[in-house]
Amino acid sequence: MAPLLEVDQIEVFYGRVQALRGVSLSVEEGEVVTLIGSNGAGKTTTLRTISGLIKPASGTIKLAGEVISGLPAPTIVARGIGHSPEGRHVFARMTVRNNLELGAYLRKDKEIHKDMDRVFTYFPRLKEREGQLAGTLSGGEQQMLAMGRAMMTRPKVLLLDEPSLGLSPVLVETIFEVIDELHKAGTTILLIEQNALLALRTASRGYVMETGVVVKTDNAAALLESDDVKRAYLGI
Ligand code: ATP
Repeated sequence: MAPLLEVDQIEVFYGRVQALRGVSLSVEEGEVVTLIGSNGAGKTTTLRTISGLIKPASGTIKLAGEVISGLPAPTIVARGIGHSPEGRHVFARMTVRNNLELGAYLRKDKEIHKDMDRVFTYFPRLKEREGQLAGTLSGGEQQMLAMGRAMMTRPKVLLLDEPSLGLSPVLVETIFEVIDELHKAGTTILLIEQNALLALRTASRGYVMETGVVVKTDNAAALLESDDVKRAYLGI
């Protein structure tokens, strides 16, 4: 069977600067896959290209066997890519509830409220703050909201960009427990995470990126044991 998400040889430029050079990766249904690499390696650019926020100069991206690269971003969301972006980007002047509802704005089914309850089960803190303006939430709560909003799109593939960035150890633990729960519930996840140890313990496979290129890919357990990875990303 074809992978659920298939990125094939994408090339991306910012003006004349090339950010991605023939990046290929795949994610099978139900898998958690991580993308690790130092700052500026191209991880965020890869996720933004998958969700249609950036158009690749060449290469193709397929979701469930159908080409999605080149489609407008809202169409890509509707097809099943949910993106929790780096830096969170919640709507500061809207309430928690309105932010979550916005995640579902392209949906026409009747299960939106059920999914909102599910988000509140994962993140009880959001339930407590549902009427509060998102801009007044703490960093950790905004991160939960960004993830919750992406979950509200009912994605086939959930893209998580640095979900633990800037959070306290307790909140990082909460976020990763939710990622584990989502995985157990069958959600397919592509995760970027600065904490490579945490990422490789959570994912089943990983891709290592350096300056716009995938330089290594393997099972997470093998990457954890790899000397290059230990030296460059695990500080061992
Ligand atoms: P980080 O963890 O710092 O976000 P990253 O691996 O996600 O790193 P990207 O943010 O994808 O890396 O950046 C890849 C390259 O593209 C870098 O050289 C970066 O400077 C460049 N870049 C990113 N965004 C832009 C932009 N809007 N305009 C120009 N260059 C950019």
